[in-house]
Amino acid sequence: MRDYYEILGVERTATVEEIKRAYRKLALRYHPDRNPDDEEAESKFKEAAEAYEVLSNPDKRQRYDRFGHAGLGANGGGGAGFHDINDIFSAFNDIFSGGSIFDEVFGGRRTRGGAHRRGRPGSDLRIKLPLTYEEIAEGTEKKIKVKKYVVCEVCSGSGAENGAEGYTTCATCHGAGEIRHVTRSVFGQFVNVQPCPSCRGEGQIIRDRCKACGGEGRIKGEETIQINVPPGVLEGHSVTLRGAGNAGLRGGLAGDLRVEIEETPHEHFKREGLDLYHDLYLSIPEAILGTEVEVPTLKGRARLQVDPGVQSGKVLRMRGRGLPELHGGTAGDQLVRLHVWTPAADALTKEEKEIMEELRTSLSFEPKPSLEQEKRSFFSKFKDVFS
Ligand SMILES: [Zn+2]
Ligand SMILES: [Zn+2]
Repeated sequence: MRDYYEILGVERTATVEEIKRAYRKLALRYHPDRNPDDEEAESKFKEAAEAYEVLSNPDKRQRYDRFGHAGLGANGGGGAGFHDINDIFSAFNDIFSGGSIFDEVFGGRRTRGGAHRRGRPGSDLRIKLPLTYEEIAEGTEKKIKVKKYVVCEVCSGSGAENGAEGYTTCATCHGAGEIRHVTRSVFGQFVNVQPCPSCRGEGQIIRDRCKACGGEGRIKGEETIQINVPPGVLEGHSVTLRGAGNAGLRGGLAGDLRVEIEETPHEHFKREGLDLYHDLYLSIPEAILGTEVEVPTLKGRARLQVDPGVQSGKVLRMRGRGLPELHGGTAGDQLVRLHVWTPAADALTKEEKEIMEELRTSLSFEPKPSLEQEKRSFFSKFKDVFS
């Protein structure tokens, strides 16, 4: 049996960090994914894992230093004598998870294997966030209550009555969470990996279920979530809050929460892009003689000058009174569409009707659309009146 220090290529005085580094290097070189069907690489991989298992444990290392292989128990090896590659992954999950080179090389084994994380992930949630145009214009801070699965506080999400002690390693997969079937054929070796049916891929089985959550590690609940909405969002925009979805089963990762913006229809405005349209109705005398009216804006009321002789359909533009762009930039305009209100004939008094009859033949009231000289819209004079 080779010397463990020799296997890892480190001095006997090597620090834990040096041992770890040496092992990572070897594990990468001899990793089975990189050396398919190479039995020598596989045995080197196991040998390095065994050496690391002993030298990374202060107690085992001390015994090994004093008594050599004999100090480590009956079989003289690292005690583990890794037969299955999966044992190696589950034994050293501190090294195999989190390390960025391992992520690259092992291509997501950590998430696929299920060997290192108990539980199953929670599902994603989607909610609609209704916003008024006023809120969209200014940006807003919203607190929403979301009904969802939350972590069971009694068992801290473990699902077991006594935390970690309430668990036992699954006997079917020995904690790996998956079952591997290797098939050899003329085309090479095929590995079929399936989640373990006994523990459903979790690697561990609960002995004593938490009474509060029945072993799920989560309960139905509610969480208040705060969302900061920047000015200028649009219907259909969404933001995804990582981990704010349903809590996972037995400590599994929580799902995400997707918040979708929904515009609340406005009493006074219709949106077109960044512009807001407002319909303003004028009486016939107002349209003829001109007037000053008050119109609503997103920031209160404003006074607007309507020139004499204005036509129905004319649009007055209040620059910069529309909605802002999402990342700053120019805001849209508020557009006030003028409509001349025609009253019903039977709504008029006898006198009013007589006046109308007189005006019927008046040349001044004859429509002359060809003389229409005004532009379709112009920038209007307006003053804010905050009331
Ligand atoms: Zn299992
Ligand atoms: Zn519980």
